Amino acid sequence: MHQTLGRVPLATHVVALSHPLSQALTQSAAPTALEEAAAFGRWWFDPETNQIVLSSQAARYLNVESLHHQGLDSCLIHVVSDDMLRLIGQLSGQVAPTAKSDFRVISPVDGLRWLRMTQLPPDAASSGLVSGILADITPLQHAAMRERLGFELTEFLVGSHPLGDAITNVIQLICKNLGWDWGAYWAAEKSAQGTAQLGCKYFWHQPELDLASFGQESSTISLAPGEGLVGSVWQSGQPDWVEDMVNDLRFSQRTNDRECKLWSGYVFPVTYVSADGHTHSPGVLEFYSCLSRQPEAQLPKLSATIGAFIAQMAQRIEHQATILHLAQVDEMTGLANRSHFHELVTLECAAASKDNTAFGLAFIDLDRFKPINDAFGHEAGNQVLREFGRRLRALAPEGSKVGRLGGDEFAMLIPTAALPDAATLLEHILQSARAPFVYEGIELTVSASVGVSTFPQCGDTCPALLQSADAAMYRIKNNGRNGCHFSSISNTHALAEQQSSIAQRLALETELHHALHGNELFLVYQPIFDIFQQRLEAVEALVRWRRADGTLVPPDVFIPIAEQSHLIVQIGKWVAEQACRDLAILRAARFKELKVHVNMAASEFASKNLADELCALVGAFGLQANSLSLELTEGMLMKRPDQVIPVMHTLRHLGFGISLDDFGMGHSSLALLKNLPISSLKIDRSFVRDLAQQRNDRAIVKTIADLGAQMGLEVIAEGVETDPQLDILRQAGCSLIQGYLLGRPMTLAELLAKHPEGV
Ligand code: C2E
Ligand code: CA
Ligand code: CA
Repeated sequence: MHQTLGRVPLATHVVALSHPLSQALTQSAAPTALEEAAAFGRWWFDPETNQIVLSSQAARYLNVESLHHQGLDSCLIHVVSDDMLRLIGQLSGQVAPTAKSDFRVISPVDGLRWLRMTQLPPDAASSGLVSGILADITPLQHAAMRERLGFELTEFLVGSHPLGDAITNVIQLICKNLGWDWGAYWAAEKSAQGTAQLGCKYFWHQPELDLASFGQESSTISLAPGEGLVGSVWQSGQPDWVEDMVNDLRFSQRTNDRECKLWSGYVFPVTYVSADGHTHSPGVLEFYSCLSRQPEAQLPKLSATIGAFIAQMAQRIEHQATILHLAQVDEMTGLANRSHFHELVTLECAAASKDNTAFGLAFIDLDRFKPINDAFGHEAGNQVLREFGRRLRALAPEGSKVGRLGGDEFAMLIPTAALPDAATLLEHILQSARAPFVYEGIELTVSASVGVSTFPQCGDTCPALLQSADAAMYRIKNNGRNGCHFSSISNTHALAEQQSSIAQRLALETELHHALHGNELFLVYQPIFDIFQQRLEAVEALVRWRRADGTLVPPDVFIPIAEQSHLIVQIGKWVAEQACRDLAILRAARFKELKVHVNMAASEFASKNLADELCALVGAFGLQANSLSLELTEGMLMKRPDQVIPVMHTLRHLGFGISLDDFGMGHSSLALLKNLPISSLKIDRSFVRDLAQQRNDRAIVKTIADLGAQMGLEVIAEGVETDPQLDILRQAGCSLIQGYLLGRPMTLAELLAKHPEGV
């Protein structure tokens, strides 16, 4: 009997084989054609004696040499211990005849393989024996694993799984399916010096193994390209095996592998090619085992699949990061964009109210930015914005946030700790705006208007704080710009003060009401000269308020108050009527061709009756519509263009003049002018102020004058105080001049005493 087995070494027999078993043994040595074709092995088990006989194919699957085993344990020696206990229980106990059992066998050569043991129904010939077949289902398991990986990936791509969880799940899946004890993902990152390195971001290990210290050690080190096994795999892009970790020099960075008894492993790169054709290497995967495993043929192929999965996740994360970046950052300046800045301020509000602290919000608006854009081109404007953004960032104290809210508007959050030095900070911001910006060798100058609000005094939400700071900023703009205004001081009396100022405002409003009806308002006229024709072209009517006690309230104070109520419309009507009455007087005297400019408020333009009323008015004083010019600012126009522009068209049609006041304050652009029904524009006096010193102001004034001439618009320069300013304006071809140099605002009586050719 033994001889028939030939070369097959048999275990020493302690118990004689039963007849059916020895028959099986004769059969088993020579595999049947069927067995070979279908790739399965056979087995025969005698529950009485606990002996088992394997076919040669089955022995190969179980990674044992002998075909006959005295006990199950020697036969199942390479079966993963959990599975082995289950199998023994099943074979020696009562198992249903068709029962199937899947189990794992681990070998240094093939790694982890999955086998399926199927029990056949008992047949009469081999009475008393249990028999069955054994198949290698490793490819099936790998397919299932790939499917599972695909599922994990989809879950991650569509769901809310963070990358860390997804990758850890994948590592765990691979370890369980391929029989590794440790798995980790090393992700590319930037070192403090800005160089590329790998950090061990996610790992998993068999819970029954004490690999905590190895994990601890791995997560604290970082590897440069080429450093250690992981670093060299990253650098070469090629997978690699390690067969004896303890003695492998490439593991000198990690010493705990000795205590953990990790022995061998497989390390492979994660790479993908992006749409632009670039190859990316976001990281490296490593898997180690406590067994001494040798290169496994199936792994390179599998690792390519696994690498592709991880790569897709990494790519997705990169996309998300870019999308997030794009969604939060202003592309031009790299500062937080409007919506992200809102988020940051909202977070700060929550934190400050929790901690009971205060913080500030500065609203920074560049003055005269639009004209730079218009006169020197968009690239010049962009250069100013980028550079100013850089300057703001450099000035930002620790914990501060800087954002660009759009156009030439910036904002800075002033954290609690920086509040005591806020005044210095704001002064620095103003200085940084005034320092020249160089574009293609040209020095460009702007300035800034800054409004500040404080949490919680001015508001406890981002919109409230921004609105308050914005309002404070506008007060600066209206006061000639380049300055800073605190919406409210950061002390506890601020609220009370704010309230009292509201009370003051209401009192003033009531007083103003009486002023209008009690003849406390009067008009003064400021000459507008045509310097080429040497004659008085027009006068601008400016309203004054002398209180009963003799004090003079400047229009800058009472006009904004009147604008907040309906009072401004009544004042406007009074001014227009008074101006027409006075003009009729002036015309009847020597001022035959004289025109009058009247300032208008935004709400006056909202009235549908405006055109009719003005027609009636000029008619009543025997004047033509073209003797009256209405001044409105760009700001008014931009606030409600859909309401204001149709009214402007009607008025122009009727012959009234329309003058765009304070031009260049930063609301509209020169390009917009082409489509506006206006007859003249007034260059804001802040451009005129520094004409003798600022080259870019000269260029801007020249551009406005040229453009005006091209479009048939009159161009009036305001605030001319010196001869050099006048000379420059003359050279620029600007014919209409208004300012203290040629004439201060004066009463009708004073004007009547003058002469049209030289007031
Ligand atoms: P505005 O329309 O820009 O008026 C020009 C202002 O510049 C006037 O101030 C005028 O006195 C001043 N000004 C003229 N030449 C010079 C100069 O050479 N240097 C300097 N530093 N200033 C000069 P005013 O009269 O205080 O008026 C201030 C603002 O009040 C006006 O600015 C206008 O917006 C508003 N305002 C005045 N009258 C009326 C009115 O009847 N209705 C409305 N709605 N607003 C008015
Ligand atoms: Ca004006
Ligand atoms: Ca003006």
